[in-house]
Amino acid sequence: QQAEWAKLKDEPTFSADGEQVELAANIGTPNDVEGVLNNGGEGVGLYRTEFLYMGNSELPSEDVQFEAYKSVLEKMEDKPVVVRTLDVGGDKEISYLDMPHELNPFLGFRAIRFCLENEHVFRPQLRALLRASAYGNLKIMFPMIATLEEFRQAKALLLEEKDNLQNDGVEVSESIEVGIMVEIPSTAVIAKQFAKQFAKEVDFFSIGTNDLIQYTMAADRMNEQVSYLYQPYHPAILNLVNNVIEAAHAEGKWAGMCGEMAGDSTAIPLLLALGLDEFSMSATSILPARTQILGLNKKELASLKDQFLSLSTAEEVVALAEKTINK
Ligand code: PEP
Ligand code: MG
Repeated sequence: QQAEWAKLKDEPTFSADGEQVELAANIGTPNDVEGVLNNGGEGVGLYRTEFLYMGNSELPSEDVQFEAYKSVLEKMEDKPVVVRTLDVGGDKEISYLDMPHELNPFLGFRAIRFCLENEHVFRPQLRALLRASAYGNLKIMFPMIATLEEFRQAKALLLEEKDNLQNDGVEVSESIEVGIMVEIPSTAVIAKQFAKQFAKEVDFFSIGTNDLIQYTMAADRMNEQVSYLYQPYHPAILNLVNNVIEAAHAEGKWAGMCGEMAGDSTAIPLLLALGLDEFSMSATSILPARTQILGLNKKELASLKDQFLSLSTAEEVVALAEKTINK
């Protein structure tokens, strides 16, 4: 099996009926890039930049960040690299950032909420990203977007820093895509309006199922006692995912997924059926996923879409998915 996977390392990803998708990897540091390339990653679908902050005793400077982003972009050559801006809070604590102690940190002051209130933290990251954009195929993604206003505010800061850099004669790419993570139900529910409203603003969606599941099911992703409710295959999740993909496609945008679900062999046929464009997973899952997709007929799976979306329980979804894969 290893030999079969190795043969697919430098191949694009096609379904049995010739439909192409992109298989990308989730990374935490520039050192992870080697593993992405060795495992046939077609891009980086999620660079979690918080590790840059967590592995430090003080705020990483703009230059330190620039070097890290540049190194990832250069190593990936022309392949797409989606960098997510700082996602602190929730389960990720950073001592020197002086975050308030909260009763419900997952529902609290985290990610984009923190960044928009702390421009001295956010702006240097945006500048570092913009400077690094000259060295590869950069896409910037904002985490935990719950409202349109948040996206607009974040994007305005980005454009402001772009102007500042260009006025200082610094080279910035003109083709940076700017997207959002869809990991809050409010955003998934009105994805259509988001895609329309953002027609000229948002370039892509990436579905963060790790958080989307916990918020939809009201089941803390860290709490063992309620883990039985943390159901990736719950029809509510499938319908939200479908909503996001349809909304993106209706406006000519792409939709990816960077939560754990994207690399799950039971979920892959479902996600292919729903039309997901980009699957971002741990590097070691890429070649198995490419092999699996090679054997799946996307059009056939898509014809089962309505049936999947109308099921009532996760158990029914898994049963139908398994019947479909094994037939
Ligand atoms: C997610 O929420 O699905 C995600 C990819 O982000 P994180 O796991 O870092 O919260
Ligand atoms: Mg998340």
